[in-house]
Amino acid sequence: MLSARGVRKRFGELEVLRGIDLEVRCGEVLCVIGPSGSGKSTLLRCFNHLEKIDAGRIAVNGELIGYEPAGSGGATLRERRPKDIQRQRERIGMVFQRFHLFPHRTAVQNVMEGPVAVQGRGRAAAERQARELLHRVGLADRADHYPGQLSGGQQQRVAIARALAMEPTLMLFDEPTSALDPELVGEVLGVMRDLARSGMTMIVVTHEMGFAREVADRVVFMDQGAVVEAGHPDEVFTAPRHERTRAFLATVL
Ligand code: ADP
Ligand code: MG
Repeated sequence: MLSARGVRKRFGELEVLRGIDLEVRCGEVLCVIGPSGSGKSTLLRCFNHLEKIDAGRIAVNGELIGYEPAGSGGATLRERRPKDIQRQRERIGMVFQRFHLFPHRTAVQNVMEGPVAVQGRGRAAAERQARELLHRVGLADRADHYPGQLSGGQQQRVAIARALAMEPTLMLFDEPTSALDPELVGEVLGVMRDLARSGMTMIVVTHEMGFAREVADRVVFMDQGAVVEAGHPDEVFTAPRHERTRAFLATVL
């Protein structure tokens, strides 16, 4: 589903991604953990074309996102046509720490916006699908509420429904519960757990170690722009091989 090879990204002098290799199979749930500033968000943003990579290659659904011709040394990254980028991006759902809902639109209007505006779906069909998705995230009775009338956990569940409305084949989550009050974290993780069980391919950056342990097929520990360690959650959490992983886990577990 996703394959990254030698992905590099720098912001000026700062090398944020130093050659990332990563494979995610169809239906797999990958949790990415690591200290703040290690490049986790940047990596997700590269997967979704929100950042351009400097070198390496990323393929999603077998289609290249960034392409480094052999022997170019990363100097010439083949540009994707805007139309290709748009099409690829539509198939990748993204959920951020902040929900970014339109404040003057109801939950159902927020969810149907993408299908109507981007995919040109008819309003009636889009609304029907939006209500089904809101039902799926436990918000059938909040469909006509505005974001300001919803709790943070409810808003984040609307954001998940909104991402799903585009019928993505891959879902990226960047610390989706970090901005929530502790008592609201569980309802969002519950929706994500259901989504994982339904077979969705997911990459989840999270500090929720309990979730990672229970739901992830694989855990990746990143530090200073590199993948330090990757493996089954039981291995990474109970018998980490690297000192840096041990040190990080000691601070969060
Ligand atoms: P994480 O999500 O693991 O906390 P990030 O990917 O957000 O890490 O950031 C990695 C590093 O890149 C940090 O040092 C951050 O300050 C820097 N960084 C991220 N985005 C930018 C940007 N647009 N311009 C400059 N530096 C950035
Ligand atoms: Mg981040």
